[in-house]
Amino acid sequence: MPIREYSAVDPKKSCPHCKAGFERVEPMECPPFPVCPECSNPVERQISAPSVGGSQSGFDDRAKSAGFQKLEKTGQGEYEKKY
Ligand SMILES: [Zn+2]
Repeated sequence: MPIREYSAVDPKKSCPHCKAGFERVEPMECPPFPVCPECSNPVERQISAPSVGGSQSGFDDRAKSAGFQKLEKTGQGEYEKKY
């Protein structure tokens, strides 16, 4: 079952429980839990995955211009030098 993270929509109105954020293990089919179980104020679901993508190419360009080499795993424990 996935772990979903929630935190308060409005930290000013929230209790310490949801202000700091909390996690719930929920079945896939369970809808996102809309309120804090402690104070019943609205909470929102957090995207817990790290933000990758978008700015990645910019990072690569900066790393390249800074003289770093990027090694990409090609499988079998081997690494291919990308540039
Ligand atoms: Zn709360």
